[in-house]
Amino acid sequence: MKLIFEKSVPGRRCDILGKCDVDYVSVPEGFARQMPLALPEVSEVDLSRHYTALNQQVHGVNCGFYPLGSCTMKYNPRIDEDMAALEGFTGIHPLAPESAVQGCREVLDTASRYLCEISGMDAMTFQPAAGAHGEFTGVLLIKQYHDSRGDTGRRKIIIPDSAHGTNPATAAMCGYQVVNVPSAPDGCVDIEALKAVLGEDTAGLMLTNPNTVGLFDENILEITRLVHQAGGLCYYDGANLNAVMGVVRPGDMGFDCIHMNLHKTFATPHGGGGPGAGAVGCKAFLAEFLPRSALAEEPGHIQVRSFQGNFLVVVRALTYLMSLGREGIPEAAQNAVLNANYLMEKIKGTFQPAYDRVCMHEFVLDLGPYKKATGVSALDVAKSLIDYGMHPPTMYFPLIVHEALMLEPTETESKETLDWAAEIFRQLYDLGHKDPDYMRAAPHHAQIGRPDEVRASRSPVLRWEEA
Ligand SMILES: *Cc1c(COP(=O)(O)O)cnc(C)c1O
Repeated sequence: MKLIFEKSVPGRRCDILGKCDVDYVSVPEGFARQMPLALPEVSEVDLSRHYTALNQQVHGVNCGFYPLGSCTMKYNPRIDEDMAALEGFTGIHPLAPESAVQGCREVLDTASRYLCEISGMDAMTFQPAAGAHGEFTGVLLIKQYHDSRGDTGRRKIIIPDSAHGTNPATAAMCGYQVVNVPSAPDGCVDIEALKAVLGEDTAGLMLTNPNTVGLFDENILEITRLVHQAGGLCYYDGANLNAVMGVVRPGDMGFDCIHMNLHKTFATPHGGGGPGAGAVGCKAFLAEFLPRSALAEEPGHIQVRSFQGNFLVVVRALTYLMSLGREGIPEAAQNAVLNANYLMEKIKGTFQPAYDRVCMHEFVLDLGPYKKATGVSALDVAKSLIDYGMHPPTMYFPLIVHEALMLEPTETESKETLDWAAEIFRQLYDLGHKDPDYMRAAPHHAQIGRPDEVRASRSPVLRWEEA
């Protein structure tokens, strides 16, 4: 597809900008540009077609199935966008006097109250801009707590080997040493291994439950009890709360603090890089360590972002919570779990689940045996799915399953979509046995097939240069 610059024809114009209604000013000598600005010159219809064509080349939840495990790519109701677009919310200034922003205050307080109730926490901050940022904030709460007690010998954070990669990165960024605990064969924390690493140097544990293989750790009360007994605190990675919201509370599982990705579970579209919000909740005894806004001017307090964070993300979350209500929230979680189990059962018999038991909101397929039999890898299957208009599942994560495909269908998909997806997985399973080379060359109908992902991320070409 041509770039908009390549479609440019000298002298062609479109008039979508209104007439300038302010006085012209001349730019002071020496500051004016030497050459005319190299803007593309196109007609309105060309412009419209260009962006529509671009739009048709991306895949989003509004285009089709998007079972990207751990990421909760569910449909975000339009009403959440409508509320976030209200002028009373978009037009506020962070330095406006308190008396002028009482409505916005109420949004923050109400959202905080509801999310505290869902997570079983007592206090909350909306400053962190994303999940990893929330983890960073939460682990700093743990650090401040130990420091405030003069308990400075606690240098280690314990993290299961199934954890999201941001967990060890967070602990390291907070200056902690990361201690890995292996998972037991059932995919959950190995209790004996946990006991072996707990001690006077334990600052805390970071855990997500259900974990990243989609399993609920039934020993969770024992796990958090053991950590507390050793003097450590328990951090819940609640980036993805889709399986448990309104059903079971991390606070009741024994966790002391948590982050929740409002952009995963609570209705802000994501995948394009933001804005998001990693709301951090904590028990009352940690509340004094929460970040304060810059305006509070209280030295000694952490501040992880300016003002109240990404406020409009909180507006969407509150709209979502209020429109689903006390009954709708647990129902959404239960449907997410039902959909994941339904899809897993329908795929079973071809690709095999890594853990053959009832899953929560997501499940992991182990393509190890399939690769051995056909030479077709998890990557090849993921690439093949693109040709069917399906976004690939998360690949090669969690690390404890080597040829992993991780599927999270979410509650907003219909039975028909799940049946369709299962059928495609079955077809690809057969195709790998019949024509493995075709799958190794997939996708065959996409704009870009197999880019050099390392080069694309290390030296991306993001700018058009005039020839
Ligand atoms: C997505 C995710 C994160 C990180 O969240 P970001 O908003 O991408 O920083 C952390 N943990 C888990 C389990 C996740 O799924």
